Amino acid sequence: MKKIILPQDYDYVGIYLTDKCFLKCPYCITSHHGSRFIGREGSAYLSPEEWVRGLNRLVLPKDVPVSLQGGEPFLYKGIWQILENIEHKVDIMTALPPHLTREHFLKLKTLQWNQRQAPYPTIRVSFHKGQNDFKQLIERIAGLNDILSIGLYYLTHPSVSQEEINAMKACAKEKGVEFRAKDFLGFYEGKMYGELKYPGSVDGKKQGVMVACRNTVMPVGPDGAIYLCHSDLYFNRRDRALGHILDETFEFPKEHVPCENFGLCSECDVKIKNNHYQQFGYTSVDIKVAQEASR
Ligand code: SF4
Ligand code: SF4
Repeated sequence: MKKIILPQDYDYVGIYLTDKCFLKCPYCITSHHGSRFIGREGSAYLSPEEWVRGLNRLVLPKDVPVSLQGGEPFLYKGIWQILENIEHKVDIMTALPPHLTREHFLKLKTLQWNQRQAPYPTIRVSFHKGQNDFKQLIERIAGLNDILSIGLYYLTHPSVSQEEINAMKACAKEKGVEFRAKDFLGFYEGKMYGELKYPGSVDGKKQGVMVACRNTVMPVGPDGAIYLCHSDLYFNRRDRALGHILDETFEFPKEHVPCENFGLCSECDVKIKNNHYQQFGYTSVDIKVAQEASR
């Protein structure tokens, strides 16, 4: 297989090892606009050997890691084999499922995948109000802090009060755990949260315009399909996949790609946010209106 070379302006590689999760957050971004990513039927999964082959052929831009996520990436049993054999630095987005222990990490023959210079913890544990317990999470993270770059991120959901945030902050400080906020994106009680670059892009229905889209992230589904954007991944638009991580050759599109799903975009693609250097003002996609399409 030939190397897969990511364009230099690519900012993020999101590897969705699984579409399973042990939590049921009502606002889960993978289910926005009626998409059904978590727990869908009939999914196919790459084996850990296939992931290692596919991931090690990626040629990444400087300082861009591979990010393992899902769903809950630690529910994918082969994650340990990937971590032992991957030749890139790895970030992990997790809610730290209860079965996960310090021994799992200590048993690995290397933790090099976790050792990179980054202005933030590279294993990002998320706290979701009503779903997991921040005191337990902080305690468990404190037990991993000496061997891993790991920290707690609370989702800035509007139902989380300042008192709760202060309590989390104090608890994290006491245990020496890095504590940060992660933006809540989406609608809550009729109000949209998150600063979007393209008005109408997340209204939840197609806007009736044909657009042309280019993305600077690479979302890869549990079966290895490479998608243009998170909306295509979450809606399982397999016919729109750009290719597969195990295709003999794969090249990213040189031009913007036509799309009629504008309005069903995922907030993570159209939000104005930080890039991987933590510089604000970055948006993953560039969208141009191509022509009016029939509604
Ligand atoms: S932990 Fe993350 S992936 Fe799992 S349900 Fe909650 S928001 Fe969704
Ligand atoms: S316009 Fe929206 S749905 Fe279409 S490819 Fe771009 S981000 Fe995805």
